Amino acid sequence: MARQAAHFAMVALGALALAGCSGGGAGSSKPDGVAAIDQARLDNADSDADNWLTYGRTNAEQRFSPLTQINDTNIGELSPAWALELDTTRGQEATPIVVDGIMYTSTAWSKVVAVDAATGKQLWQFDPQNDGAKAAHACCDVVNRGVAVWKGKVYVGTIDGRLIAIDAKTGKQVWSVVTVDQKKPYTITGAPRVFKDKVLIGNSGAELGVRGYITAYDTETGKLVWRFYTVPGNPKDGPDGAASDDILEKLARPTWYGDNYWKLGGGGTVWDSMVYDKELNQLLIGVGNGSPWNHKWRSAGKGDNLFLSSILALDPDTGKYKWHYQVNPGETWDYTATQQIMLADLKIDGKMRKVAMQAPKNGFFYVIDRTNGKFISAQPYAYQNWAVGIDQKTGRPIEKPGARYENSPALIIPSGIGAHAWMPMSYSPKTGLVYIPAMEHPLVYSDAKPFEIHPGRWNTAVSFLDPPKLPGLPDTIEGRRKALEGMVKGKLVAYDPVTQKSKWEIKRDWPWNGGTLATAGNLVFEGTAHGEFEAYSADNGKKLWAFQTNRGVLAGPITYRVNGEQYVAVMAGYGGSMGMASGTPFMKNKMPNGLIIAFKLKGTGKLPAYTPIPKDKPTPSDEAFTPAQIATGQKFFFTYCQICHGGPVNPDLKRSALLRDKDAFQQVVIGGALSQNGMASFKDYLKPEEAEGIRAYLNQRAKELLAEEAKGGK
Ligand code: CA
Repeated sequence: MARQAAHFAMVALGALALAGCSGGGAGSSKPDGVAAIDQARLDNADSDADNWLTYGRTNAEQRFSPLTQINDTNIGELSPAWALELDTTRGQEATPIVVDGIMYTSTAWSKVVAVDAATGKQLWQFDPQNDGAKAAHACCDVVNRGVAVWKGKVYVGTIDGRLIAIDAKTGKQVWSVVTVDQKKPYTITGAPRVFKDKVLIGNSGAELGVRGYITAYDTETGKLVWRFYTVPGNPKDGPDGAASDDILEKLARPTWYGDNYWKLGGGGTVWDSMVYDKELNQLLIGVGNGSPWNHKWRSAGKGDNLFLSSILALDPDTGKYKWHYQVNPGETWDYTATQQIMLADLKIDGKMRKVAMQAPKNGFFYVIDRTNGKFISAQPYAYQNWAVGIDQKTGRPIEKPGARYENSPALIIPSGIGAHAWMPMSYSPKTGLVYIPAMEHPLVYSDAKPFEIHPGRWNTAVSFLDPPKLPGLPDTIEGRRKALEGMVKGKLVAYDPVTQKSKWEIKRDWPWNGGTLATAGNLVFEGTAHGEFEAYSADNGKKLWAFQTNRGVLAGPITYRVNGEQYVAVMAGYGGSMGMASGTPFMKNKMPNGLIIAFKLKGTGKLPAYTPIPKDKPTPSDEAFTPAQIATGQKFFFTYCQICHGGPVNPDLKRSALLRDKDAFQQVVIGGALSQNGMASFKDYLKPEEAEGIRAYLNQRAKELLAEEAKGGK
């Protein structure tokens, strides 16, 4: 009897769910089971307001929610519902997926968790058991930006280049495929996307030297369906047997010169944006920078180098080329076009246009006709000094003389950090504004002379970590680094894509802040590097609410509803490329573990207790090192160490106790004693005496830091 009653209740609930979805049109009934997302449900994601079914909420990736329970009149009552502490201090970049009350998300080191979205109770955790030493190939931290969910399975790409399908109910692995040549410095940090029983994944590694591509796999079996390479390979190797073969030879190869490009892979990794445009039966992907960065060394300073720094449209079923739009021809600054691609229908000059919008690294906001890839408009959304503007007829940039640093170093804004990185932007159809986490970050680019290839390490052909003397900058490397760091800032921009003008802006004293979420409650949410999670009035930018999470917030926030209650959730945990490479003067303490935090109106949840732990005091050795040792060490420190140890994410080596112990230092740097923590052995790159030079240089720096701190400096 009881069982019958339960069955009746289930049927009634099912009927309710059907009724609730009826606005979504034919085929919008909710499929059965856990993690039940199919094509019909994904296509109707916009009317499924309770859930956040895919990375950007819908295929259009506007990150706009129609939910209004939390709005600009009651936001003051928003407080934590729950928080889940994660197992690491490394960066957290994922956008969670929520399906019928369960949250699925990835965390640093490509782990995956399933969580009760109303209570924060962890249901399972999946650990792909990465090789820790792989962290040395991760340009931008061992982060992961999210999972895809489809018909009872959860998909994640791993830092060591696998794509794994996980049973959504049990958290157990169903299948796993290796999607890259693991001998090369490929990594995966991006979120997979699913459509029509295919799961898409790209990869990263263009800073170190790889050839970019994107692959579609069968969601059930993991079988490869198609692959598209974004740049041509070694001409002697012949065709790849991939969907890209014909178009690469016809259109792309003639835009490349010399041999260096294929020796280093050429770059063009597809590490973030992939959008399924069902209406036009196409897939839009964002393509990354060149490898090496420097066009002069990559392609003899000639040619557009297709399809680097482009938005590419592919046939979703076959992977064949449809059209492309190249943002930066002959890319030479690490200006990727991998940033989020957002689909919309906008009224421009009185006509409805089907557009793709992107705010790529180069500082210009692009509106492209997504029916054919033709340029519509582009204006700067942030400060930039490399271009006069974009030719409004051809869509090609008009570069300033000297911006390519061919003959002398150039201080360029934005740097390869970008005027906008991976942090998602959002678009509110109600205000007509795009909310962009924008940045101002300078870099002195200078031609690396001589250009040496270091296999498996950073290969940019640009000297940038040790800025050379330039008029107006201090005499010492450290002085110049500090001066450049003093120039950085950020802002939250509410940008009108139709008029190509900013409507309002919130200034930030530091770049590298969080992704944004827009809601029909007239709200925009954004986290900051300072650990604040904030809400603004979407129409006028008035600050309405803030909550201190005690760790930097970078990830894209989401909102969803369970049992009639609306939640806003975000992952907190500072890291990523800038977190590894660049100092944060305001972060005086050690970083705490990351969190997933969910908020609701009048929530009574608590965050784990936070006790600030100051960074260790420098304790340099009193050994005498020679100036030659220190000079050698400086060179190798900037070649191999700074990029991962310049920011708060990884240990500050000036404060390391290892500096006093020659043998222990050698065991870590050469012997790989800490490789499972992410510190790989550098025995293939450094001789023992060079590692000892690094210890000499760091001891020197530690002494300076100690003296500075004794004087009350930072
Ligand atoms: Ca890059």
